[in-house]
Amino acid sequence: MTFLVKLGELTLKGGNKAGFEKILARNLSVALRGSGAQLVMRDGRFYISCTDSAACQVEDELSHLPGITGWASARKTEKSPDEVIAACVEEAQRCFENGARSFKVESRRTDKSFPLRSYELNCRAGDAISAALPAFKVDVRRPDIIINVEIREKAFIYGYEKKGLRGLPVGTAGRGLLLLSGGIDSPVAGFLMALRGMSLAAVYFHAYPYTSDEAKQKVVALTGILARYTASAAVKLFVVGITPLEQRIKERAPEAWATVLLRMAMMECASRIARRAKCKALITGESLSQVASQTVENIRCAESRAALPVFRPLIGMDKEDITKKAIAIGTYETSILPYEDCCTLFSPLHPILRAPLPEATALYESLDLQSLIESALGAFIPMQRALAVQTA
Ligand code: ATP
Ligand code: MG
Repeated sequence: MTFLVKLGELTLKGGNKAGFEKILARNLSVALRGSGAQLVMRDGRFYISCTDSAACQVEDELSHLPGITGWASARKTEKSPDEVIAACVEEAQRCFENGARSFKVESRRTDKSFPLRSYELNCRAGDAISAALPAFKVDVRRPDIIINVEIREKAFIYGYEKKGLRGLPVGTAGRGLLLLSGGIDSPVAGFLMALRGMSLAAVYFHAYPYTSDEAKQKVVALTGILARYTASAAVKLFVVGITPLEQRIKERAPEAWATVLLRMAMMECASRIARRAKCKALITGESLSQVASQTVENIRCAESRAALPVFRPLIGMDKEDITKKAIAIGTYETSILPYEDCCTLFSPLHPILRAPLPEATALYESLDLQSLIESALGAFIPMQRALAVQTA
């Protein structure tokens, strides 16, 4: 069986195209490892040959890989008009059985020595299909299905195309550090940045014993799901114990300020980890005004402690759309497992909604968090070795 893979936005990248293709080729070969499939790149196209029994696995991998617009399972024949036309009829039969009622044939020749011109080939294949399947109507304007013929080093014939994730290959846009809680939003944020070509690392702030080991395992599981979308770029998870910071905030700051100050501390910790983990940006699952900590004023306070650009791909999305996305990418079921979040346990009843930055800064600095942050991050190194999730 041969799959023909189509690249999307990649084809727009002018001079960088070759580099992007190389990264996608690397991601594809890592994803296909173990399936026995062969990957060949020719004339800006990827071809994957595999046994029929590996086809499901190959399609599953293709459906998880950013940078692919679509793919089709193609019939491959010698470049003889009779063989090509016979394959068109077989493909048409399959499309008709799948419910299509009208078609057109579209041919492209990169090999101009093929004895029929594209137009002639379209007509002859169309006639052969009509003769074999009289109920399958030709419609050149709005056909249910296009039977594509590509004459290259061999002839490829395909009907249905499956849709890929689109976006850009992971590894073309540097690495981002995802602030990954066990909730619904942040895994979706990580996925969306992977779709823009970022490879990912993740940090989880763990408030043991206020949050349980199960809460942490949930984040480990989410990291594993995200790693499926990043192919060769494994996702490393850093777990940082945040309890001493939470306690300090609780002791010294007015209750209403707890969440804003904790977010500022998280941004500071994340920025330092990002530097060590060679990440170029921070990624959060914030969505404007979704909760008290996500008003524009409170986001500004948190951001004031970030040393890198903060990407918030969900900022303009509503919860229903985010949830749909979480279901589609397979993180939702894990995200809704009932384990407590460090922030909900710690949340004040009446949080400040629009924290003024000068006051936030003064309060934050009065907490004297530096040595606590140092030791939280110092402790994460041995922890990281124990807990790193490296799933390709
Ligand atoms: P999520 O569903 O991602 O938990 P949320 O709607 O619960 O988001 P918040 O709890 O306000 O919103 O968190 C906002 C963002 O802050 C999260 O999307 C995540 O990026 C980050 N964040 C919150 N808690 C943690 C944590 N314990 N560890 C790492 N990042 C966190
Ligand atoms: Mg949350």
